[in-house]
Amino acid sequence: MTANVTVMFDAALAAAVTRAAPDITPTEHGHIKHGHIQQTEIIKDLFEGHYEAATTVAQAFEGALLGIGVAEAVDGEIVAFDGTVWRVPVDGIPVVAEPALGLPFSVVALGGTEITESVSAGTDFTGLTALIDEVLKNAGQHDDHAVAAVRVEGTFTGIVLRSEPRQQRPYRPLTEVLDHEVQFRFDTWSGTLVGFRFPDVNDQVVIPGLHLHGIGADRRSGGHCHRAVTVSATLRVWLDDVDIFVPMTGVHYGM
Ligand SMILES: [Zn+2]
Repeated sequence: MTANVTVMFDAALAAAVTRAAPDITPTEHGHIKHGHIQQTEIIKDLFEGHYEAATTVAQAFEGALLGIGVAEAVDGEIVAFDGTVWRVPVDGIPVVAEPALGLPFSVVALGGTEITESVSAGTDFTGLTALIDEVLKNAGQHDDHAVAAVRVEGTFTGIVLRSEPRQQRPYRPLTEVLDHEVQFRFDTWSGTLVGFRFPDVNDQVVIPGLHLHGIGADRRSGGHCHRAVTVSATLRVWLDDVDIFVPMTGVHYGM
């Protein structure tokens, strides 16, 4: 059921999701084809402790360029790129996620024109966010409503990654789960960070700002990325529109 339900959500995000057409932006660098972000579930439900599967790895990540998510029962952070979907459980060691694995929340990018930039050494998340916004602006896209898929690859310092322990029913709210998160700190770390730049809004629908999950180059570390400072890195950005679907209620945002 995809009923026509009216949902209140932030005007900035509304502008972003209605930006779906036209999906080609002419710029001085040629034409940029917008990609598409498919988000399953909303952040409010996750924070309230809905950790049951709303989709599966196979369903959510088919044809994915990159993506992030969380496993059913909060049994690991999900990170996807280059055709592989990883799950990083609480021990911090990535494993390839089973196609049938349930996910209460996922955000997946599909296609679009890639824009590549090198990143100056010493760039932290604030600097990265500013650089992404600059890239979007140069592409004629940046305002407070732009959404983009992001991939940062290279060597970093002072990196903090995290995962969380698997939860048992009755589920606790996510803030309580995160009180017991496990952090993995590396002075020097090489790997791939993927995720999204969403508008800086607190609308309970999307995760605001820059949100990245990582996998180490040696595939021996990973998780949600709290902080990272670049030593040498390349940034890739894809302009996107967004579609958010909540299977339980049939509510469709942004279509
Ligand atoms: Zn995360």
